Amino acid sequence: MIDFHCHIDLYSDPASVLRGVDARGTYVLAVTTTPKAWRGTTKLIGARRRVRVALGLHPELVAQRYGEVALLCGLLPEARFVGEIGLDGSSAHRDSLDLQHNVFERILAASAKHGGRIMSIHSRGAATLVLDTLEKHWGAGVPILHWFSGSHQELERAIAMGCWFSIGPAMLKSRKGRELASRMPLKRVLTETDAPFARTNSRPLMPWQAYDCLTELGAITGTEPDELKSQILDNLRSLPHTI
Ligand code: MN
Repeated sequence: MIDFHCHIDLYSDPASVLRGVDARGTYVLAVTTTPKAWRGTTKLIGARRRVRVALGLHPELVAQRYGEVALLCGLLPEARFVGEIGLDGSSAHRDSLDLQHNVFERILAASAKHGGRIMSIHSRGAATLVLDTLEKHWGAGVPILHWFSGSHQELERAIAMGCWFSIGPAMLKSRKGRELASRMPLKRVLTETDAPFARTNSRPLMPWQAYDCLTELGAITGTEPDELKSQILDNLRSLPHTI
């Protein structure tokens, strides 16, 4: 099982979630929302080989925490994965979009300077600007657009650019999410939960529930869930530093 976008440090009891992850052999990318969480989350994960930590600065926090971009860039040499980063153009965060863009550009430029990183990217309400910015800083690494919710045209552009996608049970609950997922190249798809923010039956999803979307994904793409599992594992293996 693979959960390539999970906020492990934000569960109420991360240690018990990690015990569940260990028991099931789940691969997890533990994204962070602020670079101040990097050290603590890295310590929490310890020597686990199937759980990787990503260094992030969530666009929804940039209005308050933009000063932390310097800390993030300073920690970048230690991190193989970057996320959650990106842009949020929804009404609640549109006012900080210029600041978010400035921060996103600095992170991408720093990632490029250090040889590129695998990046988990948020693009709600700002897919075009995210793609414009990625295009400008293509040396920043492999962009994995998490819970993509742009237009079909924006999706086509992201695919043509070579972007990857992570999709999960929450995304596939909506018709729009299913339509977008059905158009994504399966060779560039990973699974995610975005937990504990994303929930099921009013409880946070658990990392091992990322594959709950495979029945739905199988139905909309005409692929057997077992075939999807092996494809997604191959996809993970094809990314450096993951397994
Ligand atoms: Mn997230």
